[in-house]
Amino acid sequence: MKRRLSRQVRVGGVAIGGGAPIVVQSMTNTDTADVRATVDQVAELARAGSELVRITVNSPEAAAAVPRIRERLDLTGCRVPLVGDFHFNGHKLLTHFPDCARELAKYRINPGNVGRGAKRDDQFAAMIDCALEYGKPVRIGVNWGSLDPELLARMMDENARRSEPLAADEVMREAVIRSALESARQAEQWGLDAERIVISCKMSQVQDLIGVYRALAERCDYALHLGLTEAGMGSKGIVASTAAMAVLLQEGIGDTIRVSLTPQPGGSRTREVQVAQEILQTMGLRAFTPMVSACPGCGRTTSSYFQELAEKIESYLRAQMPLWRESYPGVEQMRVAVMGCVVNGPGESKHANIGISLPGTNEVPVAPVYVDGHKTVTLKGDRIAEEFQAIVASYVREKYGAALHASAK
Ligand code: SF4
Repeated sequence: MKRRLSRQVRVGGVAIGGGAPIVVQSMTNTDTADVRATVDQVAELARAGSELVRITVNSPEAAAAVPRIRERLDLTGCRVPLVGDFHFNGHKLLTHFPDCARELAKYRINPGNVGRGAKRDDQFAAMIDCALEYGKPVRIGVNWGSLDPELLARMMDENARRSEPLAADEVMREAVIRSALESARQAEQWGLDAERIVISCKMSQVQDLIGVYRALAERCDYALHLGLTEAGMGSKGIVASTAAMAVLLQEGIGDTIRVSLTPQPGGSRTREVQVAQEILQTMGLRAFTPMVSACPGCGRTTSSYFQELAEKIESYLRAQMPLWRESYPGVEQMRVAVMGCVVNGPGESKHANIGISLPGTNEVPVAPVYVDGHKTVTLKGDRIAEEFQAIVASYVREKYGAALHASAK
């Protein structure tokens, strides 16, 4: 797949665009003024694999907390770059809290929320001045829900005067694109390099997002941040985000992504990181963690045992990754198969690095294990799950530990 070549933007130690791997990012939902809660959540998101974490900076208290958050994260060895999310008062907060401006790795600026009327340009310019002073990149992040009303009204008036007016939603899409591009070019006129600008135009409908990003990709070479805004909860949020982003990613569009999921009450914020990683990995664009292939199960499966085993193995692999990532380079490419019966079990297992085919209805109660395409052992009894996990762990040590030792010699 050919990727659109955008300008490369560096955010802390992370490269966005210009052929760099597509970056996964996320955002906290803590009160940023609550340093402890925010540090904990940023660290949790980073451990889950978020490569940039955005935090709301909406008040003097939040701005004052930013340097303390950065300091505490650094003390624990968590170097994930922090992005400040600004609306309405960003010009004041960045100007009055220079330590906040310095410690953030990037500023997200919503051109629809930087100010109205004559104040708009001055307030936007004040934020760009801070980016110039502290050498920071910015994301010009348009959201259709907070589109600049003056721009939209102007474009609607222009459209009404046309001999063949466009539909209102077409004008709205064009207004979103124009808001981003005109703001980015304004920032360039004030001295910000194009290599310090990322663009996003978040829409809440799949077809709108696809249409807007296709147009952006044609009309500029800025790095692009992809995300469906207000995607929603649970499977609907995941499906809508995946449907929209997969089309664009397949066309080579998108340098960094976020999946904006509404967490279940009490649910972990890290789910959105996991989904973003799974989109990229299942499309073959990046690898983050070993993938488990499991059959859906059917009338041939005698119990939920194989689903439980698939889930157990998947959780085990994910839990090991923070350690394995360092100790076993390449392990993220590993494929594990957990299958419910003999129909497709051996075949799928042979195609994985390690596979197990559990016994289905009326089959002999044994579970052959395949390693690199060859049957190595047949498990039976009550400890199949534990024994299979041990086989996976030993495979990882031997196959990927060897790679590390060889490169160290
Ligand atoms: S592998 Fe067996 S249990 Fe799984 S879906 Fe196919 S037939 Fe059913």
